[in-house]
Parts: sequence; structure tokens; C-alpha cells
Amino acid sequence: AATILWLRRDLRLADHPGWAAALAGGGPVIPVFLLDPVTERQLGAAPAWRLGQSLADLAGSIRDKGSRLVLRRGDALETLRALIAETGARRVVWSRLYDSASRERDTAVKAALKADGIAAESVNAHLLFEPWEVATKTGSFYKVYTPFWKAVRGADLAEPLVTPPDLAPPGRWPASEDLADWRLEAAMDRGAAIVARHAAVGEAAARGRLGWFTGEAIGRYRAERDRLDRDATSRLSAALSLGEISARTVWHAGWRAAGRLGGGASAAAESFVSELVWREFAYHLLHHTPQIEHRNWRQEWDAFPWAADSDAAERWRQGRTGIEAVDAGMREMYVTGTMHNRARMLVASFLTKHLMVDWRAGEAWFRDCLVDWDPACNAMGWQWAAGTGPDAAPFFRVFNPETQAAKFDPDRRYRDRWIAEGRAAPHEDALSWFGAIPRGWGLSPGDAYPAPVVGLAEGRERALAAYKKLRAA
Ligand code: FAD
Repeated sequence: AATILWLRRDLRLADHPGWAAALAGGGPVIPVFLLDPVTERQLGAAPAWRLGQSLADLAGSIRDKGSRLVLRRGDALETLRALIAETGARRVVWSRLYDSASRERDTAVKAALKADGIAAESVNAHLLFEPWEVATKTGSFYKVYTPFWKAVRGADLAEPLVTPPDLAPPGRWPASEDLADWRLEAAMDRGAAIVARHAAVGEAAARGRLGWFTGEAIGRYRAERDRLDRDATSRLSAALSLGEISARTVWHAGWRAAGRLGGGASAAAESFVSELVWREFAYHLLHHTPQIEHRNWRQEWDAFPWAADSDAAERWRQGRTGIEAVDAGMREMYVTGTMHNRARMLVASFLTKHLMVDWRAGEAWFRDCLVDWDPACNAMGWQWAAGTGPDAAPFFRVFNPETQAAKFDPDRRYRDRWIAEGRAAPHEDALSWFGAIPRGWGLSPGDAYPAPVVGLAEGRERALAAYKKLRAA
């Protein structure tokens, strides 16, 4: 009998334990992507758009191998039951997700299918280590990154699985919906600007990027990864988030580079692998403390006088705080769907400290704007920056965006790339931002650059005073 392979954040063919498990059944395999309400509710504008691109690419690769990707929209269990009735499948295989909404759904689906007499199996295709496999000596979970890294860095992970030569297509296909009808791009009003920047999506593009990066650029990673003005990181986050490439493939490529390159370059390659492990750590935390997505990880922060979403937060979202490094980051994200990691740290610190706005407002905006949006990394990143999370930057360490910019954007190239106001010959990216933003924002490149929404010293003092009060209480 046929097996249904329920694809989710694992949109690839290579190193895919789900494909391997489905094919091992010996019968035909029907690959399916379900746009169910849980998935839809999570998808912001940019992630939805990026998902659509990825699905189109995967459908093409599956077609090239003589099979088809079946698309269905609707409640997951009902849709799976309908597909089982249509195809006579006796087994459903999927790769695990770790956020609480997906977990709840999957647990319920598994129990219901089993009660129907259908075999339901889940595998790990998303992570290097299952979150429960890594434990402290006392059998607890890690709350601090460095010991987590030490615990896993020597792990002897199996080599990646190869792309299956034959996808075992069934003789008869269930109907598929049309990807275009899902209108995953509908909320993505940035138009051509973003499309142009993501011409290369999907599995082959991710492998190409990894090859380029680990071939050469990785040797400069440690020295340059914080530089806002350099293209010095792998830019694999969106591909990892959607599973276009497996973390295991990246892990092995990183360690191979560490072994091949000598001295400093080797250490740089290892530091790249250690960043990949931050993603694992984020999933470790998400699994053990699911509230990290929605609540202050340290509850004492519930008493902090966080400002609600405000006019200042709106200026932050619109990239017009009057602080160039912050505005550059926010504009970069709006137009390109991504933002440099150092800029993410800066803008998050500015929102939560200088503006004292609740980190959840920032988390929500990132979720809407980032093509690499990931439930674990985004939540951990925000709680880290706000000082509310485990192993977080302490609240009293307030980033000064100007000092940071002087250090990591010494020639102003990054800021000049995204700020047009007051520039005699603005960069085309800075102009493209004005072309992409909603007309309702009422902004034009000829405007004067805005005055700071808060003085840097004043904002810092205000935040530290509130922090002192919280500590005293
Ligand atoms: P590289 O430097 O090449 O790193 C390789 C991979 O390691 C990345 O692709 C990513 O999967 C992982 N990684 C690197 N740094 C981190 C980190 N600090 N935390 C977790 N994983 C990491 N990353 C996301 O993938 N999705 C998000 O939604 C997200 N939101 C963030 C929000 C905030 C406030 C902050 C401070 C960081 C966030 N990050 C997020 C982490 C990080 O900024 C991005 O992973 C990184 O910028 C992606 O660029 P890259 O692929 O070139 O990374």
C-alpha cells in the first residue's frame, strides 16, 4: 500500500530521513504539502511569500524525478483522512516540528490516525540533535549556550543521506490544488524589490551557496561576521528554516572545511559550526520551555513597565527612528526580507531598551518581515536581546547603536546603502526602500532625515532607572 509523506519545514530531497522512511515501506510514496490552519496562522507576509517560492522549486525537483507534489489546503487530520480514502494509503510519515502549536496538532493527528488503523511515524529531518537527546549531567536541559556547545561539538553525526534515485510514484494520483490559487504572495506588497533579491531559492541554490561559503569565505567568517558592510556569512538561514538544506549537511561541510583549512581559517570554520549550533540551542530551549515563544522566559520581567506598542514602535518598524544604524537595519529587512545578525541585535536592543517597548511587538514584526523566520531562533533572539531570556545579554548592557556602527560599519557603507535622506547621490538600495514601502507611510527620499525618536543617553538612563526599580522590588 502507498505511504503519504507529509512535507513541512523539510522541503528537499537530499539528506531527508522522511523520504528514506517512506521509501523503505516498499510501496508507492505520495508527497503532500498541507496548508492547514496551524501553518497558515504562523505565516507572516515574507515567510508566506518565501514558502511559495520554495514549494514551486520543490515541486519542480519532484516532477523531474517522475513524481508529483500534491498540495491541499484544509484541516490537517481531515485532509489526511481524505487522502487516505482516495489513495488507499496505510501509512503517513512526517518530520517533527517543535513549536507548541505544531506539536499539539501532530500529537492529535498521530493518535487519530493510529485509532483509524493507519501507521503514523515521525522522524527528525530538521535538527542535528533531538532536543531531548542533549542533557546535562543531572539529566536536565541546558539553559546556557556554552556548555551546550561543549556537549555537542565532538558529536559523531552520520553522513548525510543521498538523494533517492527513485521517488516511487503511485500509479494513480489524488488531485492537487494549484499553488498559484493559494496566493502565498498576497500579503507581500514589497513587489519586485524582494523578488529580485531571492531569484535563487530552493535546494540546489542552498547547496550552491554552501559550496561557495565553505570553499573560501568561511575562513574569514570569524573576523568579519559582525561587519555590517560585508557579505561574510553563509546566508543559509531561510534555506535552513524551510529545510531546503539539512543542518547535518551544513555541519559536515563546516567541519570538513575546519579540517582542510589550517590555523586561523580552521578556527573560523569551527566558529561557523558553533553558530549553527545556536539554532540547535534555540530548539532545545523551545522544546523544554515552549513559553519562550510568547512569555518572558524569566517571569520577574512581567513586572517591568514595558511600553505597549506605541508611536515610537511604529517609527521603529518604519525605519525612521532617526538613529541611522537602526533605521538601516529596519529598512534592509523590509526590502530584502533579511537583516544582518549584528543589526538584528542592535535594533532589538534599541526597541526594548531605548524605547522600552515589549519585545513581543518586535518579535511579531520580524515574524512578518523575515524570509528566514523561524519560531525557535526568533523567540530566542528577542528574549536574548531584551534580557528576559535564558543566557541573555544582561538588561543593563545597552547597545549604543552609534558606537556599534563605528566599529562594525567603519566607512558608513552599510548606513549609506539604506539611508537616502540628505545624501547627494543616494544608493539604489536606499531608493528601492522608498519604492517598496506603503504609500500610507507618506515618506520620500527628499525628506529631511528624522530627528532621533529619543536621545541615546536619555533612553539609556530611562531604561536603567526602570531596571533598577525592578531589581529593588
Ligand atoms: P550565519 O552566520 O552564516 O550562520 C549559519 C546558520 O547558523 C544560520 O543560517 C542560522 O541557521 C544559524 N545561526 C546563526 N546565528 C544564529 C543565532 N544567533 N541564533 C540562532 N541561529 C543562528 N535566525 C533565523 O534563522 N530566523 C529568525 O527568525 C531569527 N530571528 C532573530 C531575531 C533576533 C532579534 C536576533 C538577534 C537573531 C535572530 N536570528 C534568526 C539569528 C541570526 O540573526 C540569523 O540566523 C542570521 O543572521 C542568519 O544569517 P546567516 O544565515 O548568514 O548566518
